[in-house]
Amino acid sequence: MIIILHPDTGKNDAAYRKLMQHLGGLKGITVRAHDVVGAQQTLTELYLIGDTALLNAEEIQSFEAVERVVRVSREYRILGRHKDDHRPSQFTYNGVTFGQDRLNVFAGLCAVDTRAHVEVMMKALHEHGQVCTRMGAYKPRTSPYSFQGHGKSCLPYVFELAGRYGIGVISMEVTHEAHIEEIRQALDDAGNPTGVMLQIGTRNVQNFELLKSAGRQTDFPVVLKRGFGITLEESLNAAEYLASEGNSRVVFCLRGVKSHFGDPHRNLVDFVHVPVVKSLTRMPVCVDPSHSVGSRHSGPDHIPDIFHATAQGVIAGANMVLVDFHPDPPRALVDGPQALRMEELPWFLEDVRIAREAYEKRCKVQAQVMSDS
Ligand code: PEP
Ligand code: MN
Repeated sequence: MIIILHPDTGKNDAAYRKLMQHLGGLKGITVRAHDVVGAQQTLTELYLIGDTALLNAEEIQSFEAVERVVRVSREYRILGRHKDDHRPSQFTYNGVTFGQDRLNVFAGLCAVDTRAHVEVMMKALHEHGQVCTRMGAYKPRTSPYSFQGHGKSCLPYVFELAGRYGIGVISMEVTHEAHIEEIRQALDDAGNPTGVMLQIGTRNVQNFELLKSAGRQTDFPVVLKRGFGITLEESLNAAEYLASEGNSRVVFCLRGVKSHFGDPHRNLVDFVHVPVVKSLTRMPVCVDPSHSVGSRHSGPDHIPDIFHATAQGVIAGANMVLVDFHPDPPRALVDGPQALRMEELPWFLEDVRIAREAYEKRCKVQAQVMSDS
């Protein structure tokens, strides 16, 4: 059960204390308070854990501090979408809003290699009105002999250039708790010219200690990749780990799954699950066409498979796109074969715009059908 309090209810308010006293007396129930800090107000949600089936929701609802009581019907207590649950499904970070009703594009380098490449990328994004990017500093690689990323040594110039070109949010993978602190320190040292969305990759989706670390801090939102070899339910539970530790600013990213059927692509594209995740949870849903498709292949229509996969995700209502670009793909140190070229950026953005417009038109048709029936 979730109890949503009136906005800005303080922990010292008499009404809050009275409610907590009542809840504290309930046998076998533990209460966990979670603050959702927004630009305008702070919302406190209380999570009741234990056998809540017998609790009297009306009685709890009658307390002065309580705005609403939501009975949790699914696994994903915090991030899930429950019956009569009208909690907001969006958050704003560093001036950029993320939610199930919008779309943000994160085009950028899979891995930071040189300062010059970072600058070419960010300048191009700026020229095309983009305020988000992806930049990998810590790379989890299949082979221990492959380039592992520059780590913290590249952060000063990445953040400086982001500030220079008006990039507000960088998606950056972390593979260890220490990386979160390194990012925080480097941002502080640079005077916080930009922001970071911590990316937890498919290989770490069940690294529970990392999830807890990213969940315990609330400075940075998190984009969590679906596990490539586990069930969707298991991946969504991983997202819930972040929220249960206190960070519910989480985007869930589909990035394809492994299959044994001899894929033409690096992974089996799973973007048909965009609406599934949106109906099970309130998280914005991201698609990563680059790590799904894994190549620059295009068919007889000469439209790259990566564009087609992106369009499939966006026309199904995706809220974020994470996509690899590189100024010189043959010389990229990681995932060059799947990187789109800089000159393809305007084409890619236009393709995304067309797919989004089509999705919005589909929603309008649906609304019309509803109102006619
Ligand atoms: C990445 O986005 O750079 C990456 C490694 O992705 P994934 O975790 O989906 O393989
Ligand atoms: Mn990659």
